[in-house]
Amino acid sequence: MVVAGVVLIALALVIVVVAPRVLTRSAWTIDHPRTALVSWSVAVLLGVVGFVVGITLVVVADRPLTDPFGLGESPTHGFDIGVALLAVLAFVVAVRVRPGPEHEAVREAMRSGAAPHRQIDGTTVALVEADHALACAVPGRSGGVLVSTGLADLLRTDELEAVVAHERAHLTQRHAVAVAVAESIERAVPWVPGARAMARSTRVLVEFAADDAAARRVGRDALRRAVLVADGTSALGAVRASRLS
Ligand SMILES: [Zn+2]
Repeated sequence: MVVAGVVLIALALVIVVVAPRVLTRSAWTIDHPRTALVSWSVAVLLGVVGFVVGITLVVVADRPLTDPFGLGESPTHGFDIGVALLAVLAFVVAVRVRPGPEHEAVREAMRSGAAPHRQIDGTTVALVEADHALACAVPGRSGGVLVSTGLADLLRTDELEAVVAHERAHLTQRHAVAVAVAESIERAVPWVPGARAMARSTRVLVEFAADDAAARRVGRDALRRAVLVADGTSALGAVRASRLS
C-alpha cells in the first residue's frame, strides 16, 4: 500500500508539473478552447485526488482495518490528524468561489431595473447608460447580459447580436465558475507554478470558447467586426479578431 501511495503522489506531482506546460505551450488550445478548459479541470482533479488518495494510502498502510488511522496507539496521533483536517478545511475555505465586487455592482444595476431592457436575438439585455464600450455577462438568477449604450451605438445590428451571443455563451457554458475556481486556486496556492498559468489560461480560453459559440450563431465576420470595435486595442482583442479571420 505504501508503494501504491507513493506512486500516486508521484503521478499527481507529474500531472501538476506537466499539465501547465502542455496546456500553455500547445497551439491546439487556441483552436479547441473547450477541450483545453476540460483538460485543465481533469488535471486539477487528478492532481488533487492523486495527492489525497496517495497520502491516505501511505498513512493507513499496514494498519488494522478497525483502526486504520492508529488513533488507539498514541494520544497525539488523533491531534495530528485533526491538524491535517484543519489544514484541508483552511485550503477549501481559501479556494471558496466568490463573485467579484464588479459582479455585485452590475447585478444590483440589473435588479434595480434602472437600466432599460431590450430583446436582442432572443436574449433580454440590460442597456446601461455609459459612454465607454462595455459588455458583460453576470451569472446567477438576478444576472444576465449587460451592454453599455456607448458600445451599442457603435455597433451594427448583426455586430450587437454577435456581442450578445458571446456574452450569452459565457452564461450557458458557466465560464464564470471556471474562472472563479482557477482564480481561487491561484489565490490559495500562488507558489504552485501551474496555478498562475491556469488562471491566466482560463481567462483567455473562455473568451475563445464564447467566440466560437457566437460565431456559430451569427457568423465569424460579424463577430470579428464586433471584437475590433469593442476590444480592438487590447492584445487579447487582437488575438480574438485574428482567430476569427
Ligand atoms: Zn467575453
